[in-house]
Amino acid sequence: MKFDVSRQRIEAASAIVAGGVNSAFRSGIRPHPLVFAEADGAILTDVDGNRLVDYFLGMGPMLLGHRPAPVVDAVRAQLDRSILVAGQTDLEYAAARLLTELVPSAELVRFSVSGSEAVQAALRVARAATGRSTVLKFEGHYHGWFDNVMWSVSPTLEEAGPAEAPVPVASSLGQQPAVDLAVLPWNDADLVRQRLARGDVAAVIMEPVMFNNAGILPLPGYLEAVREACDASGTLLIFDEVITGFRIGPGGAQQEFGVTPDLTVLGKALANGFPVAAVVGKRSYMDLVADRVVHGGTYNTQSVAMAATLATLTEIASGRPYETIGPVGTALMEGLRKEFADAGVEVRIVGYPAVFQVRFGTVRPRDYREALQADRAAYVDFAADLLHHGVRVLPRGTWFVSTSHGDHVDATLSAVHDVLKGSR
Ligand code: PMP
Repeated sequence: MKFDVSRQRIEAASAIVAGGVNSAFRSGIRPHPLVFAEADGAILTDVDGNRLVDYFLGMGPMLLGHRPAPVVDAVRAQLDRSILVAGQTDLEYAAARLLTELVPSAELVRFSVSGSEAVQAALRVARAATGRSTVLKFEGHYHGWFDNVMWSVSPTLEEAGPAEAPVPVASSLGQQPAVDLAVLPWNDADLVRQRLARGDVAAVIMEPVMFNNAGILPLPGYLEAVREACDASGTLLIFDEVITGFRIGPGGAQQEFGVTPDLTVLGKALANGFPVAAVVGKRSYMDLVADRVVHGGTYNTQSVAMAATLATLTEIASGRPYETIGPVGTALMEGLRKEFADAGVEVRIVGYPAVFQVRFGTVRPRDYREALQADRAAYVDFAADLLHHGVRVLPRGTWFVSTSHGDHVDATLSAVHDVLKGSR
């Protein structure tokens, strides 16, 4: 496959759009970022006319595939009613009700536009509730691109110092210094207990399964231990389920592991591609948002986005997406394991049918420090080669699967087979 038209467009566009892309996470892609003409189901069509099986899925949101009928129909109908009213609609109440039914920690809901913003709301609630200012996050966990949380996420931890007392490492030039931030390696309950015992931490925030870097499950008992340490020290526990929410299952990681956080951040699959996120949580904390904790946003609960949210959550609540994706994602993971084994390539595949992580090597990392020891360059090469065989996967190893992928598993596995055989 050739991507020449995309390359020309990106080069020309770089004169008017910084780097030719509108999110940092869309650059650095090999052979270069692509320009797309259309998306349908599991397939993206780029401006070169290539049809690509898409495992980016918009970086996670498209659980029901691209342009699924229930969402498209709801959005079309809403366009005849309203776009933005700077007030309330019944749509947002219906969507909020579904969230409270689906997500164990969701007693009260507030919608935002992006995951990054909803994280900020959660941190504000936690600080208000505790009267403390420090937030504890974990190395490798991504909670959006804002200054106060984008620490020790990437690319390396060379300057982070010892695991027991890491120094936060900035991810961007121009970032404000780390203020009121504590950082630890994940999956070590003792380190959390020791840090929380000081009694100054407002909130612990984590991805309950670490999918942004590596794909690491919580060690048995870890989430429970952090929950206990939070309770013992009067600290709020925040699960950032922007990726895990609605992908691990309708109730996210908190349902899967049976550990209920105080606050949860949701996004991505919540609205199947429309810009919607939410902070939800226990009534006693979220009530603060009804009072003196400010959470705002011109575009919060924009009507069209809410129509998409309600349609998506209605599908999710039916359980049908999981019945569809379950066997497809499982067949894909098993097929990949077999292809790699046949080719003599060591690989680790971790996760769930709708979101899993493929990594080369035998290392079973517990945390980001260990994950960084793996040879990531080889996987980046593999992802670049796979694109030439019509399959688009994230170079960091995450595979997102939608309800539309069932017809494309065989083509995907045969593309993987060809790449591993070294043919183009
Ligand atoms: N939290 C997690 C776990 C995420 O994966 C992301 C986005 N990749 C965010 C927060 C930020 O969400 P958004 O990009 O919608 O601001």
